[in-house]
Amino acid sequence: MNIKDNYYDVVIAGQGAAAFAAGLYAARYQIKSLIIGETFGGETATGGLIENYPGYPEIDGFDLMLKFKEQVEKYDVPIIDDKVDSVKKQENLFQVKTFGGEMFSAGTVILAVGRNRRTLNLKNEEEWVGRGVSYCSTCDAPMHKNNVVAIVGGGNAAVEGALLLSRYASTVYLIYRKEEFTRPEPISLQQLNQSKNIKQVMSTNVTQLNGVDGLDSISIDKEYNGVSEIDVDGIFIEIGADPRVEIPNQLKLELNEKNEVIVDSEMRTNVEGIFAAGDLCNSSGDLKQTITAASQGAIAATSTYHYIMNSKLD
Ligand SMILES: Cc1cc2nc3c(=O)[nH]c(=O)nc-3n(C[C@H](O)[C@H](O)[C@H](O)COP(=O)(O)OP(=O)(O)OC[C@H]3O[C@@H](n4cnc5c(N)ncnc54)[C@H](O)[C@@H]3O)c2cc1C
Repeated sequence: MNIKDNYYDVVIAGQGAAAFAAGLYAARYQIKSLIIGETFGGETATGGLIENYPGYPEIDGFDLMLKFKEQVEKYDVPIIDDKVDSVKKQENLFQVKTFGGEMFSAGTVILAVGRNRRTLNLKNEEEWVGRGVSYCSTCDAPMHKNNVVAIVGGGNAAVEGALLLSRYASTVYLIYRKEEFTRPEPISLQQLNQSKNIKQVMSTNVTQLNGVDGLDSISIDKEYNGVSEIDVDGIFIEIGADPRVEIPNQLKLELNEKNEVIVDSEMRTNVEGIFAAGDLCNSSGDLKQTITAASQGAIAATSTYHYIMNSKLD
């Protein structure tokens, strides 16, 4: 294949909030853009009801992502349902290959491939997302006013999540498999220890999610106050997420200690011409949300536009 066959100014990998926002901005800058993404809508599309995306007091995540996609399609940006297999630098361009075997060349690439959530691997866990099971306390805590909830994990996200939940729920069981918390920030631990409605359930694992059409109770592997089953209205699984680093590793992108791609304020990585946006990167710290992903996509597209305009591609 000639290096300039199938050329795009920017190839955007992903089909979530970051990728669609990048596609929208790139199209409006009139640079030739292509989106290649594995699953429509990313995490937002499967996240259930969204109540914190400005402009929509309540919207199903799938519908919100449909609106993102339709807005991009208005500008005739091609969207390919496929997974990017590899990105290789060749001269001053990038060769992008999909799992389906298609090849494209690109002046720039925006990686917006998100993260894999860690799960407890329990029966019904996946099926009951939105029916008692959640992976995001920032997103779903307000839905649990005066409820009894459990949260699983021992890192900063779990402790911060428990503190947030305690502002809504009547009782929060914070369940951790180890004997003590070592990773959260001292200030969070101090607040945790002062909380009146967070029960710390240590050296304990959740073994079962019980219910009929949704979650009613959880089973644990060590008795707590004489019981091994606790009635709950919801469980939050905050045991981390793994950024999808296959392509970043191919390109030798710099990662931080959480394996997030390190970007600067313009979403530039350490490899010239490669940008990253959304949950894959370190840009918004621990606040990984649809709004932050979308805004980073917009910034990344703006940076690719400037990069393309400034580079001497022939
Ligand atoms: C259960 C749940 C509920 C949530 N609720 C809310 C909420 O209420 N409000 C809120 O603001 N946020 C919420 N979030 C967080 C929000 O969904 C994420 O922050 C957001 O989706 C991140 O967008 P992203 O585009 O960076 O990544 P993602 O949405 O994860 O999208 C990544 C995309 O990349 C694709 N992909 C993966 N690998 C490849 C590859 N090799 N090539 C091409 N494509 C690839 C994926 O298929 C996907 O399309 C929730 C998250 C979860 C899990």
